[in-house]
Amino acid sequence: KLHNQVQELKGNIRVFCRVRPTLSAEEEIARMKYPDLEESTEIEVRGMDEVSSLGKDITKTHPFSFDRVFDPRQTNDDVFREISQLIQSALDGYNVCIFAYGQTGSGKTYTMSSEDGMIPRALRQIYSTSKDLEDRGWKYKMEGSFVEVYNEEIRDLLGDEEKGTKKHEVHHDMLNHETTITNVTTLSLDNQDQVESILSQAMSRRSVAATKANEHSSRSHSVFILKLVGENSVTGEKSKGTLNLVDLAGSERIRNADTSGQRLKETQSINKSLSCLGDVIGALGQQGQALPVASDVRSGLTSSREVSSSTGSTAHIPYRNSKLTYLLQFSLGGNSKTLMFVMVAPEKKCLGETITSLKFAEKVS
Ligand code: ADP
Ligand code: MG
Repeated sequence: KLHNQVQELKGNIRVFCRVRPTLSAEEEIARMKYPDLEESTEIEVRGMDEVSSLGKDITKTHPFSFDRVFDPRQTNDDVFREISQLIQSALDGYNVCIFAYGQTGSGKTYTMSSEDGMIPRALRQIYSTSKDLEDRGWKYKMEGSFVEVYNEEIRDLLGDEEKGTKKHEVHHDMLNHETTITNVTTLSLDNQDQVESILSQAMSRRSVAATKANEHSSRSHSVFILKLVGENSVTGEKSKGTLNLVDLAGSERIRNADTSGQRLKETQSINKSLSCLGDVIGALGQQGQALPVASDVRSGLTSSREVSSSTGSTAHIPYRNSKLTYLLQFSLGGNSKTLMFVMVAPEKKCLGETITSLKFAEKVS
C-alpha cells in the first residue's frame, strides 16, 4: 500500500490530506507527545496515501485515498518538502495554486499562513532560488499582494486604507493572460528585507482581522499572490509565472435557518464559493484526462521555461460563478498546477465534517 513518491506524471491536479494532532487544553504537551491520540481519534492514517474514518463499528470504516496523506506527527517541514518542487515551478513559468480546505480548526492557517507555514517558506525558497538562478543569467521581477475575499468582495490585506474605502475589481487581460486587481497594494521583493517585511505585514493584518471581527478570518478566503516575471540576459528566454496560496474559509456547514442578516450573507457566499471551487477543479480534472494539458509536451520544447500560459479549452469551466474562481481563472486550468490540501481534525466531534471534507476532496481529485 505504500507509495513513496507522488508520481510525477499524474496530471496537474493533486490532493493531499493532512490530519492534525489532537489538541488538549495543554496544547503544548499534546504537541510533544500526542498522549491520547489512539483513544480519541476517529481518523486513521494508513500508509502515505490512505486515510480512514472509523465508525463505531470497525467494519464500517470509510477509506479515502489521496496523492499523499500526512499523519499527525508530520511537521510543516515535512509538508513543505513535498510541495517545494511545485513551488519551484512558478519560477519556471507555471501558474500554481495551492489551497487549504477544511472546517474551522482543522489546521488550514497553521499549514498555510502561520509563521512556520507554507507562505513564508515558499517566499523564502523562491527568493533564494531566484538569487541562485542569477548565475545562469536569470533576472526575476517579483511582486506580491495579499487579499481577502469576503462576501464576494475583495479586500486588501497589505494596504493601510480604512476598511472598504477603496473598491477592488478584478481585471483580466485576455491577450496577455494577466490578472490585475484595481487599487490593490503590490510590494516588490527585490531583497531579503522586502521579503521579510511583506511577511510581517501580511501576518499582522491577518491576526488583527481575526481578533477584531470575531473569527472573521475563518469566514473569508485569504489569497497570497506572487507574480514572477523572469528574463535571461544570456539566452533571451522569458518566463512568467504566478504562485497563489489560498487559505480558504471554514467549510463547515452552517444551516441557513440558524442565521440571519450579515451572518446569513456570509454563510451563503462561503457555501457558494467553496462549491464553485469544487466544480471548477472537478471540471478541470475531467478535462485534464481528455487533453494533454501541458503545452510543453505538445510543442516539444526542451525547456519548461518557454511554456506559454496557454489556457487550452476553458469554455465549460464555471469560473464566473464566484469571485474566488474568477480571480484565479488564469491560474486554474490550462498551463497551471493545482494542489488542494484537505485538512482534517481527528476529534470525534468533528467526524461528520471530516467525512464531508474528505468526500469533497475525493470528488476534485
Ligand atoms: P483553521 O485555520 O483551519 O481554522 P488553525 O490552523 O487555526 O485552523 O488550527 C487550529 C488549532 O490547531 C490552532 O491552535 C493550531 O495551532 C493547531 N494546529 C493545527 N494544525 C496543527 C499541527 N499540524 N500541529 C500542531 N498544532 C496544530
Ligand atoms: Mg484559519
